[in-house]
Amino acid sequence: MKFLLHPSLQAISRRLPRSRRVNLVFRLSALILLLSVLEAFYHSQVSLSIPRPAEHHNLDEPFSIGCQDVSKLVTRPRESAVLVMLARNSELKEARKTVENVEERFNKWFNYPVLFLNNEPWSEEFVRGMKEVVSGEVRFEVIPEGIWGPTAGLTEEVVGEYLRKQKEEGVYKGEIEGYHHMCRFYSGEFYNLDALKEYKYYWRLEPGVSYGCSLTYDPFVMMADRGKKYGYTVALWEEPNTCPSLFRTVDEFRTQNNIPMHPNWKAMIDEETNWLLKPAPIRWLLGKVLRREHYDIKGEKWNLCHYWSNFEIADLDFFRGEQYQKLFRHLDKTGGFYRERWGDAPIHSLAVHLLLGAEEMHHFSDVGYYHEPFWQCPQNAKGKQLLDNEMIGKAPKGMGEEQEGGHGCRCECGLGKKGDWRRRNNRGICLEKLQRPAAYVRPSWWDLRRRRWPYSVGFDEEGRYVM
Ligand code: GDP
Ligand code: MN
Repeated sequence: MKFLLHPSLQAISRRLPRSRRVNLVFRLSALILLLSVLEAFYHSQVSLSIPRPAEHHNLDEPFSIGCQDVSKLVTRPRESAVLVMLARNSELKEARKTVENVEERFNKWFNYPVLFLNNEPWSEEFVRGMKEVVSGEVRFEVIPEGIWGPTAGLTEEVVGEYLRKQKEEGVYKGEIEGYHHMCRFYSGEFYNLDALKEYKYYWRLEPGVSYGCSLTYDPFVMMADRGKKYGYTVALWEEPNTCPSLFRTVDEFRTQNNIPMHPNWKAMIDEETNWLLKPAPIRWLLGKVLRREHYDIKGEKWNLCHYWSNFEIADLDFFRGEQYQKLFRHLDKTGGFYRERWGDAPIHSLAVHLLLGAEEMHHFSDVGYYHEPFWQCPQNAKGKQLLDNEMIGKAPKGMGEEQEGGHGCRCECGLGKKGDWRRRNNRGICLEKLQRPAAYVRPSWWDLRRRRWPYSVGFDEEGRYVM
């Protein structure tokens, strides 16, 4: 202990009798402990707290409750938008399933163009197969040379070494080179394609997904009307070993560009786990000295929440804009797309939380969506199914019952397993965290303890939390 004291304190301590010395040490330690706890409490509960929107209402509401009279909406002008699917020739069957489904549930009324992208030339079979099912214009593009592939400067040997290591460590799809190319492509290069230049919005489709409800309004027009730039359905935790240094690298960009710790960014920070054990010196140790995974340099930890990017409806101008592209270049030049297996989903999510306001993001909670193995499905809105609307047509056979609090249109819920009445088969924790900056109405401490997240998650008839 002696060595830790300042010489003047040492002198005082020497003059004291032994019992008083012990007493002094004890009191000093108690004081330090108390200050640490107070600091840790202040940091997690005050500095990182997310203020409620000043406008006294939620900054994001469903675009639609139940079905809309589509015959009136189709007469309005369309937005400049495109449905995009990256696919391989071998995925014809799954790709066709998605497109048939989206046509049936939406596009047969609105006839937006569908654009297919591939890193290889399209097979005649794929082109023929797709032309049969798309109602609007259909385009087939091959990604230009040099765009699909590793970050400049990374040699084949280095990439090979990275992939081998990821295979050893069991990183999900870490050993598949093409998967890394895909993640890098969707993270940045995608937005600069000439084929997308003429559009303002895109809706990302994937082979083998399904849409369980009808979309009887134009989501692109709604995005434009409400000033939304990023739309999502499912939010989950990322696999930790795919991106140990991603959060630090994004935060580095934040500090280099003097972007403050605004509420939407704070939503990405884990302020709940072990806050008591993380006073300033410990945070400094974890972030700066030990450079722990998922920590930024100041010792804030990412909560690993992100939106699933296999569904996205978003504003291309945001993603091809200077700030996002600068962030992408910053990430790319660290080699993280190959050294680790950064997904485009966490990158889009961290970027929108960094660069957009909470009011510019939209949860498509009225969209029924299934991508193996997760789904969300709103229950059908009571009395709003417009069953005699001629243009919407006959109700699907497997349509679920109408429910209090539901806001879907003619949904077939239980997209993974027929007859499953839950609104989602994944926990709503990340949705609640990521939506907090936009949420005026929030779950109480008691709701959270009982695992009820009212803003983002539904309830059953007895008021129990529904996953
Ligand atoms: P997951 O959803 O993350 O498990 O990944 P997927 O296998 O669904 O891939 C995501 C998207 O990228 C899908 O649209 C795939 O068709 C597409 N994709 C993945 N790898 C390749 C590839 O090597 N070439 C092409 N053309 N598309 C790919
Ligand atoms: Mn997929």
